[in-house]
Amino acid sequence: MVILGAGYGGLRTLKKLQELRPDADIVIVDKNNYHCETTSLHEVAAGTAEAKEICYPISCVVDPQRTVFIQDAVTRVERECKKIIFKKNPPLTYDYLLIGLGFESESYGIQGINEYALAISDIPSVKRIRRHIEKQFAKWKEDHKDERLTIVVGGAGFTSFEFLGELTHRLPELIQRYHILKSKVKIICIESSPNVLPMFDRKLAHYGTSRLKKRGVRFVVGRVNRVMANHVYYKNGDELRVIHTGTFVWGGGVRGSSVIEASGFRQQRGRVRVKSDLTVPGYPDILIIGDCSAVMDPKTGSPYPTTAQIALQQADCAAQNLKALVDGTPLKKFVYKWKGTVCSLGRNDGMGQVMGKNLKGYPASFMKKIIDNRSLVKIGGVETMLKKGKFSLSR
Ligand SMILES: Cc1cc2nc3c(=O)[nH]c(=O)nc-3n(C[C@H](O)[C@H](O)[C@H](O)COP(=O)(O)OP(=O)(O)OC[C@H]3O[C@@H](n4cnc5c(N)ncnc54)[C@H](O)[C@@H]3O)c2cc1C
Repeated sequence: MVILGAGYGGLRTLKKLQELRPDADIVIVDKNNYHCETTSLHEVAAGTAEAKEICYPISCVVDPQRTVFIQDAVTRVERECKKIIFKKNPPLTYDYLLIGLGFESESYGIQGINEYALAISDIPSVKRIRRHIEKQFAKWKEDHKDERLTIVVGGAGFTSFEFLGELTHRLPELIQRYHILKSKVKIICIESSPNVLPMFDRKLAHYGTSRLKKRGVRFVVGRVNRVMANHVYYKNGDELRVIHTGTFVWGGGVRGSSVIEASGFRQQRGRVRVKSDLTVPGYPDILIIGDCSAVMDPKTGSPYPTTAQIALQQADCAAQNLKALVDGTPLKKFVYKWKGTVCSLGRNDGMGQVMGKNLKGYPASFMKKIIDNRSLVKIGGVETMLKKGKFSLSR
């Protein structure tokens, strides 16, 4: 059995499979030798957490008696001959395959996004954002170009809100370090729809927006049209407007891994509409979970939003179904149980819905830490949670 990706879905599947089928030969592949708590990437981007705080070695989960770990980038899967093609290693054949290669930033074809925008997608990309912002502030000391102190975020969804929340907590330190007048620093969020955070109740979305506004974030309604090195164009109606900025962070959307497209799967934006047992239509030996999969919500007829929460639940079902494939027994249907969503707004603040209740402020932020710690236990175990968990009540 081969598992591609040691993220939420892939690593949790491995953990469960090692328990369910101790005699199976398993290979897990990832381009990195660490697992990243992707749900905390925005903290590293804003500089309120270090990368090492949100990562732990994949070896914490790999049982060397049963599992081989290959560190390499997958370039494509050749489904007909059951082969995985890597960047460096020779091809690898599989009997059963689980794909959990996660997400990539989606440019929607907007000019300049791929060249000039910064994305919150993995550890290198968020380290780049932190370095970039610090460099802009340091350079302002030399040339006093005010656009260096303007940070623009494209998209007002979950990731953008979490990043803006952290950023507003980090900026006072940068302002002090570089002796900058607070009023010179501008944070602008551009969103095409007047309805920010569509996944939340309007009262909660309003709470989030008002908290960020209070900390100096300006919300602008418009569609990002073109990104260049030092400015962003956006359209409001027919009118084209421009913001001069040294930093543009794109939080406008994500898609599934490009490996999905390169492998010729029937897909939309890197996501495959999997069957109810998580297998790929026509390929009963391949399961896809997490951000590379699309699972339909029977209530709305649309795919569920891709989250770590659903990836972890799919992983439990996928592990049982991989075992069933080996045993020749019937596969289980995946049933998603939404347990709530909490969006962080930075230190001690947040908002969300958990068990039918709306949470705001400190209770939401506290709940967010519990959720993050729970996912650490589910994959890395109690020891990893004790090392990497969020316990400080004042952070
Ligand atoms: C800032 C931010 C905050 C978020 N907050 C929340 C939240 O609060 N709650 C929530 O439920 N969800 C949240 N999400 C969404 C969540 O992080 C994703 O849905 C989740 O990570 C998807 O899990 P996955 O298992 O599909 O892939 P991932 O966990 O992203 O893992 C994919 C793995 O594949 C590896 N990989 C990728 N490409 C290759 C390749 N070509 N070759 C080899 N290895 C490869 C990567 O290194 C990675 O280890 C957030 C996302 C972001 C960016």
